[in-house]
Amino acid sequence: MNKYKLIILCALFFVIFDNATFFTNTIKVYGLEDINIIYISSIFIILTTFIVLFFTLLSSKYTTKPLLIISLMVSSFTSYFMNNYNVVIDSDMIRNTMQTNYSESIDLFSIKLVLYVLFLGILPSLFVYKVKLDYSESFKKDIFLKLKIIFGSLIIILVLLFSFSKFYTSFFREHKPLRYYTNPTYWIYQAGKYVNETYNTKSTELKIIGSDAKIISKDEKPNLVIMVVGEAARANKFSLNDYTQETNPLLKQENIINFSNFYSCGTSTAESVPCMFSIYDRADYNYQKGKYTENVLDILNKTNDVEILWRDNNSDSKGVAVRLNHINYKTPKNNPICDEECRDEGMLVGLDDFIKNSKKKNILIVLHQMGNHGPAYFKRYPKRFEKFTPVCKTNQLEKCTKEEINNAYDNAILYTDYFLSKTINFLKNYNDKYNTSMVYMSDHGESLGENGIYLHGLPYFMAPDNQTHIASIFWSNNQKYYNLLKNKEDNKYSQDNLFHTLLGLFDVKTNVYDKNLNIFKDKN
Ligand SMILES: [Zn+2]
Repeated sequence: MNKYKLIILCALFFVIFDNATFFTNTIKVYGLEDINIIYISSIFIILTTFIVLFFTLLSSKYTTKPLLIISLMVSSFTSYFMNNYNVVIDSDMIRNTMQTNYSESIDLFSIKLVLYVLFLGILPSLFVYKVKLDYSESFKKDIFLKLKIIFGSLIIILVLLFSFSKFYTSFFREHKPLRYYTNPTYWIYQAGKYVNETYNTKSTELKIIGSDAKIISKDEKPNLVIMVVGEAARANKFSLNDYTQETNPLLKQENIINFSNFYSCGTSTAESVPCMFSIYDRADYNYQKGKYTENVLDILNKTNDVEILWRDNNSDSKGVAVRLNHINYKTPKNNPICDEECRDEGMLVGLDDFIKNSKKKNILIVLHQMGNHGPAYFKRYPKRFEKFTPVCKTNQLEKCTKEEINNAYDNAILYTDYFLSKTINFLKNYNDKYNTSMVYMSDHGESLGENGIYLHGLPYFMAPDNQTHIASIFWSNNQKYYNLLKNKEDNKYSQDNLFHTLLGLFDVKTNVYDKNLNIFKDKN
């Protein structure tokens, strides 16, 4: 077989076996009536031809097979996640995957995934590996053939695009997200984008901001703040936000401010966590800027008046606490409360000592929760929190009913309710010595099968409200904040407010502070 024939075979394999989500979503949008069958057939031909063109351009004696095998293997994974969770594999999703740790991967493991990898990855790869490629053609003849395929492909694509130009204008302009589901073209394009965003750095020097930061407080009591970074907790699953199931039985007994209209910066942990602590707002934030600019914790640290600690029961701080004291609580070595997995409440153990030994006046403790990390929601809470039943006990959510998925998710929210109320009651012990406050906000929301979409991470502009409208609450022993916020807790806020709100909570004076973005801004 010559290499072009192998490329054509593989292209057909990709389009037929790895593009189920793409064709399902396309048919959902256009329907299969009359002329649409012809349009969708033309998409089939264009996609196949485009893949042939792509691999032909990169083909050579040494690259053809390795590139095809890598693409087949990766596409078997992307197919699985797209078909089962309707996710889009873009550069942010690739970043999340690269930052995924062992226990998170285990959570995603299933027999079905193994079958996908076997039949769509390993077996076709073995075929590509074994097949004998004929290299007897002369160099000149090979180049000629290659050019013939390249120009032939271009002509087929252009003729079809122009013949159905009205349809393709709609396809590319009005239904932009559809092509995000093509395999392997879209993930290859996004992998390039990921490498460019991550490694093509203009400057690797840290941008120093807020060097003038100083605490100027009129209050004699210092501040003790616990900031809880939640995980995948969407707003409409808190009964504080009128959810019909009682998921906040403990928090509702506390004197809290519930932000009912709070929005995230991104739809994934890797994007939202660095963004919420950064000076940049959602429109301005990107990975490079976040990584190479000091964040609000750095600024608090340089006042020399705030002791800072980051405890992490999620994956890690996503770069936010790299220059500060941060400890991994996913291991029983540090976290004393672990059963099947280490629990969020373990992060509270030993904080008394940390506060007692603090050398600085004020204290900020950040607790990064495991929270509602999917898809195995049933693992996210100790057994006694299983109040809502029956529960979905598999990571293959499509096997469960809507009710079972929601119950598992709600039980995990119930555990967060318990954890947050325990945090508040921990802080109450310090009410006479400190101004104590707790800030809670989730990193992003979650889809639970609405319109066939699961988990999170869709590009922001196409993400449903469920993935961006997040749970957020505030508690303090200082009445001042409740007075400042009177009737404003239902205003629209977002993670853009966190940077300035934290500076405000600690009375930090600096030129990078924007009082209008502080949720508790004074009227004067
Ligand atoms: Zn997250």
